[in-house]
Amino acid sequence: DTAGVTLVKTIPLRRFEEAVRFGVGLSPVFSVFLFDDNITSSPHIHGPVGDTRLMPDPSATVPLAASPGWALAPVDQVDQEGKEYPACPRTFARTTIDRLGAAGFELRGGYEVEFFLGRRTFTSDGEGDPVPAHNGPAYGSIALVDVEPFATSLIRAFEAQGTGVMQFHPEYSTGQLELSVPHVPGISIADTNLVVRHTIRAVARTHGFAASFAPVVWAGLVGNGAHLHLSVWDRRGRNLFDRGRGPEGMTREAEAFTAGILDALPALTAITAPSVVSYQRLQPHRWSGPWAVWGRENREAALRFITGMVGSRAQAANLEVKSMDPAANPYLALGAIVAAGIDGLERDLSVPEPVLDDPADLDEQTRQRLGVRQLPASLGEAIKELEASSMLRRAMGDVLFDAFVATRRAERDAYEDMDPEEAVRAHRWKY
Ligand code: GLU
Ligand code: MG
Repeated sequence: DTAGVTLVKTIPLRRFEEAVRFGVGLSPVFSVFLFDDNITSSPHIHGPVGDTRLMPDPSATVPLAASPGWALAPVDQVDQEGKEYPACPRTFARTTIDRLGAAGFELRGGYEVEFFLGRRTFTSDGEGDPVPAHNGPAYGSIALVDVEPFATSLIRAFEAQGTGVMQFHPEYSTGQLELSVPHVPGISIADTNLVVRHTIRAVARTHGFAASFAPVVWAGLVGNGAHLHLSVWDRRGRNLFDRGRGPEGMTREAEAFTAGILDALPALTAITAPSVVSYQRLQPHRWSGPWAVWGRENREAALRFITGMVGSRAQAANLEVKSMDPAANPYLALGAIVAAGIDGLERDLSVPEPVLDDPADLDEQTRQRLGVRQLPASLGEAIKELEASSMLRRAMGDVLFDAFVATRRAERDAYEDMDPEEAVRAHRWKY
């Protein structure tokens, strides 16, 4: 939904064909749900009346190896006349990627997934903190051995269902793990993210664990990122992020695409870091990309440019958007980032000088010379930046844009003043 919570409806397999033709019902009001199941309203969406149809995409449907008997079908929402529902996040992402396609470019990419794994604990008066599946050391083989049976099942499931695995490792934070998957074209980038998250949850359950994709699982510790890797290819199958004459080997088109995203980063933040607790993660010195700058292999930059190893660059060169966490709806974020890239192409923008240091260490004069800005530091600030973006309002359309802003405002009002630990607990098991 607009708040980044993954919703589901299920049907038996014999009804699948019927569902592909006529859809399954869902109230439009889910477009203004908050992460905590409270409901707000927007100028276009409110109240209990109306219906949208969830149309499963057969070509994107994946039988789930870790959930025997089940398959996952990403859906587009339409109205009962079969017309696109203007607040559907997948339709927004798909049509935006189609716009890029019409300009002659193919998009490839993938979400990197960081998550917390642990055992939930329940007490007579509610829920306690979870017991983490590992306590480090970060990237340590001790941590890997602690979660090895889980990891074995997980990797087998991904390989069996055709999702594939690029890499798996224990990450920096308590109980944190990371998995990356091969890059895929277009809308499959976000579809795959749904499959990945569902598979991780299912395997966790089988091993007595639960997985959390909340931006922060422990107040004060490093959070979960959902970094988006993107590359743009021409019709002849050439990666435009490699062997160009621009900075770091970008072609003119790749540079303009990157510059468009860079220009929109502050406004994009409400979409890529949409939760009140996202701002406990999006801080300096957490490798979360809190600075609106770009630089080759700069892990504090919101845009980390990756050339890849010599010899592999035609395949590997890509742009990583780091200022994103898994509370972001993967479709909204993908659509908004691609819209910003298209805006850069249309305006033929250029990137400024790259930032190749930790921006926090630069003196004020250097910061000003390089145009270094920190991204919004709270959801309230991020909403203001988004509201000022006519580019994103145009790209998303009024219905989706206003619904999104309404939910962000309502979450800001309810949670921004809350004690950080309490806010983390409220969000921990929602994503
Ligand atoms: N966990 C960090 C984040 O919040 C990212 C660490 C890394 O660079 O992989 O985004
Ligand atoms: Mg990581």
